[in-house]
Amino acid sequence: MHEVIQGVQGDPTVYLNGQFLPLSKATVSVLDRGFIFGDGIYEVVPVYWGRPFRMKEHLDRLERSLAKIELQQPMPRAQLEQLVFDLLERSDLRDDLSMVYMQVTRGVAKRDHPFPVPAVKPTLFAMVAPFVRPTEAVRTQGLSAISVPDERWLHCDIKSVSLLGNVLAKQAAIRAGVDEVIQFRDGWLTEGSSCNIWVVHDGCVYAPPKNNLVLEGIRYGFLEELCAAQGLSYVLEPISREQVVMADELMLTSATREVLPIVRLDDQPIAQGRPGPVYTRLRQAYDDRVLALRRND
Ligand code: PMP
Repeated sequence: MHEVIQGVQGDPTVYLNGQFLPLSKATVSVLDRGFIFGDGIYEVVPVYWGRPFRMKEHLDRLERSLAKIELQQPMPRAQLEQLVFDLLERSDLRDDLSMVYMQVTRGVAKRDHPFPVPAVKPTLFAMVAPFVRPTEAVRTQGLSAISVPDERWLHCDIKSVSLLGNVLAKQAAIRAGVDEVIQFRDGWLTEGSSCNIWVVHDGCVYAPPKNNLVLEGIRYGFLEELCAAQGLSYVLEPISREQVVMADELMLTSATREVLPIVRLDDQPIAQGRPGPVYTRLRQAYDDRVLALRRND
């Protein structure tokens, strides 16, 4: 198969500024503010068998990110939703598992820090990429992590394309031979490199508050629902490093990793070093909700 870009199979159809075109033909100016300043935001919607999962919540977050960086909506909500379906329709993955990646930047203008005046058209890019659900081995063996200081900025609630802090944190995990980092700011838990972190104590599920120090994953709301349905308490409050180390269970969530157990931190086991009962219940509940999408023809 024709390999266009390292790791990308074939030449999938993508969307760029009003056009559907092959990935190999989709180009933006080097003066795009996304390229020059990282001045843009993005979103990732998981898609199961052609059905976007919690799309409303993802598009709500996209709109919140846009508002927080004072960027105009590239198109009305209904059109954006339609774009997701139109892209899926054109994708080889239309009946499979995939994710829709969307990115909006402040557009192309002379390199200058202030927002362009008058405003220029934002750049809107979207593509479908394959999504592989976590394997049985990962689900049952769990993941390992290291703790690192959170060295990012103070607007982690914005799903910004400026991901250098997250990229360097993830690379630290790779270098250490583990799966993920758990970041702490002044000794308090924030999140992983591209996931939220959950702590279980005495059967209760805890996560850091939704504030400017973490990205509010769409799974914050989803886990709240699953916990309610399972009769598990769900508490958002500051979590210290000690509480993380002493946890009965640790978990991470993200659109693509769904919910997974973290069983080792800094080379020490968390509790018995095995996925725990709360994880197992949430995992099952997560799977049930995903499989219901398949049956819903
Ligand atoms: N935090 C960060 C920094 C992330 O990049 C992600 C992945 N988007 C998450 C948390 C989890 O968010 P979600 O559940 O919406 O994938």
